Parts: sequence; C-alpha cells; structure tokens
Amino acid sequence: MRWNEMTSPEFEVAVKKSEGVCLLPLGVLEKHGDHLPLGIDYMKAWDFADMASKLEPAVVFPPFFVGFVTAAAFEPGAFALKGKLVLEVLEATCTEIARNGFNKIILVNAHGGNVVLLQTFLKMQLESRRDYMIYQCLHHFGPRTIKAKEKLHKETGGTSGHGGAYETAVGLFLYPEMVKMDKILPREIGGENPRLMNILGGDILTPMDWYAKHPVHLSGYGGKSTCEYGKEVCEMIAEDIGETIRKVKSDDLSLALMKEFFDKSGK
Ligand SMILES: [Zn+2]
Repeated sequence: MRWNEMTSPEFEVAVKKSEGVCLLPLGVLEKHGDHLPLGIDYMKAWDFADMASKLEPAVVFPPFFVGFVTAAAFEPGAFALKGKLVLEVLEATCTEIARNGFNKIILVNAHGGNVVLLQTFLKMQLESRRDYMIYQCLHHFGPRTIKAKEKLHKETGGTSGHGGAYETAVGLFLYPEMVKMDKILPREIGGENPRLMNILGGDILTPMDWYAKHPVHLSGYGGKSTCEYGKEVCEMIAEDIGETIRKVKSDDLSLALMKEFFDKSGK
C-alpha cells in the first residue's frame, strides 16, 4: 500500500488496515562503484518495504533519499546534506506521518552510513513527549537475509560492503537495465587500503577512516552476482521485514513505557 499511489479515501482505509503501521524507506544518493545507479540505496529500500507490505499489511511512505553520506561527498552525484539537517527533516517527516494516523513507524534503512545517525535519532525521541513509536530494522534485516547473503558470498566468492556482491545481486534483480556489469571494477579496488591503519592501529577512530580505507568509495566485489541470487536475497529481506511488521503490531508495551518515561521525567 504505497502512500503516494492511493486516493485520499483509500488512504483512510489503508491506515486502519495497516493497524497504524507505516514503513519509512531510507537511503541516499551516492556513488556505488562504476556499475550501480546512484539511487540504489533508497530505491531498494522502497522495494524491500513494498515487498514486505504485501506479506503483512502496512502503508509504505515514499523513499527518503535524504541520508547521511558525508563520506561520499568527494564522488560525483552524492547528495550530502549536513547531518543536523537530515535529523531535522526526518523528525518533521515522522511527525507528519504520525499526524496522519500512524502510531508505529518502522525505519527500513538500506544505507550503511545511516545506521549510526538513526540510532542517534532513536535516542532523540526521548527529548520531547510524543504518542508514536519509532522502530529501526537492524541493517541485516533478520536471520533469513543473513543466510541468503552468506549463500551468495560462499557460492560466488563475492564480498559485500558498499557496491559489492549483495548490492549488485539485488540491483540485477530489481533494476536489471541500470546495472552495468561490464563496468564493474576489479576485486582489488574494493579491498581495504591499510594506509591509516598502519599508523593508528585498529583502536582509534578518525573522520578519515572510510576515505583512507576506500579511496574510490567501493568496498566489496560482486562480479559473479546474478539476478537469481538477488531475487533470493530480496525475498528473504521481505520475509524478515514482514516478521518485523507482525512483531511491531503485537507491541503495546513500548508506547506504554514511553508514556511512563515522560510522566516520570516531567516532560
Ligand atoms: Zn549502498
């Protein structure tokens, strides 16, 4: 049930049918090797949410391509707004989703760089009283997805990080006409450059870690990925998210705890 494709009366019915659950797909615009489209993260997030909502009813918000992607800002095509602004837009978006009758919003994120920002966003929910709950799917979505990715890596010799085996396979299934397999970069380019690690070791973080390791913003290799593997991974992601929707529907506790929390904290 895509929010943007329904009429207003249909939307009212969908809110009830979804039991107040809305999926918010998140991604970014950034380089994904020389072979995948810039928007693959938000595009696939939308598809994952869509496929899951067919297994367990939920309304799917249009994809959020405003993400946290400063690390890719040096590559052409990156849309890298400041993190502070991303958080503000996200907060306003969730408030609007809730105003439309949803009290449970599930963040379906498909961009690795968003993970930490979304954890921060969850913590920020406790800054002021609200009557809706934000849920964040973990980046691996669930056990079925992990298994399907393991199979892909084992059988193709691929690796996944950013623009690697998983994203290539999923791209081949969802957007075959946009994936340029003849442009895929050699395996060694998606490896890790140890230049900064050699100086600082593994126990110190800096803002340059990603750029130091991945000078062309690529991590992993998907030269042997196929549409069939992509189909399997997408179906498992949909099932994992479907399971998440079911669990979220059965959860009455987190909202009650939030009310109790704000009552105690005097906000
Ligand atoms: Zn990606």
